[in-house]
Amino acid sequence: MMTSSLTRPIFDLGAELCYVSNGGFAHAGSRANVSDAPLGAATARWPKSNVRILTKGESTFMALAQNYDQQDCPVARALELIGERWTMLIIRDCFLGVSRFNDFLEHLDIPKATLSSRLAKLVDSGVLKRKEYRTGQSHYVLTKQGEALWPILYGLAAWGEAYHAPRRGPRRIFSHAICSTVLDSSGACPSCKIIPAASDVVIQPGPGAILNFRDDAVERALQKPHRFLSRLANSEPTAKRRE
Ligand SMILES: [Zn+2]
Repeated sequence: MMTSSLTRPIFDLGAELCYVSNGGFAHAGSRANVSDAPLGAATARWPKSNVRILTKGESTFMALAQNYDQQDCPVARALELIGERWTMLIIRDCFLGVSRFNDFLEHLDIPKATLSSRLAKLVDSGVLKRKEYRTGQSHYVLTKQGEALWPILYGLAAWGEAYHAPRRGPRRIFSHAICSTVLDSSGACPSCKIIPAASDVVIQPGPGAILNFRDDAVERALQKPHRFLSRLANSEPTAKRRE
């Protein structure tokens, strides 16, 4: 809870801080006045359950909303799932061949509860499929819907290398497994004139990579050229390979 020197009631619109500005009600996200009218104007724009009148002089800051349900947009729908923190890195690891809970845990360094929650949501959404070995150990593999995220994942990596790479050069090199040609920024092989499937792409450290930055089984395996969706050295066979 924050305190403020505001001298009149303010509205808390949704989960974002709202405060009085220039005599009206301002939305913290846009810094623009929303309305200078009272409650009616706010509830006409937001669900009444999301509008709260604060007492005089009181201010508040709540966690950001958990979803984009006020956005009728396919980007918003997709981001509700893959925009959650860590989710794209879990999907990245699946493409790399990681499938065991403990391998995700070791490679990502996230709390168990967070990993469990993200994996469960990805399974519920049809992005991952959960399989159990005879040992009772769970494995997570990409479904067809999950593999359809490859162009997005590659696009993110290409964008990151284009605009946020170290001066030494790219951290990762992606090449076509068939001809060893480095892929262009669209994911296409300039030699074969095709966009290879993820399973035909090899990843290896680039000049910008910091070798030994991490020391876990997944990272050690990635210090050598590695084909996506194939077994990582020092780990059990991936579920995909067993199919
Ligand atoms: Zn090629």
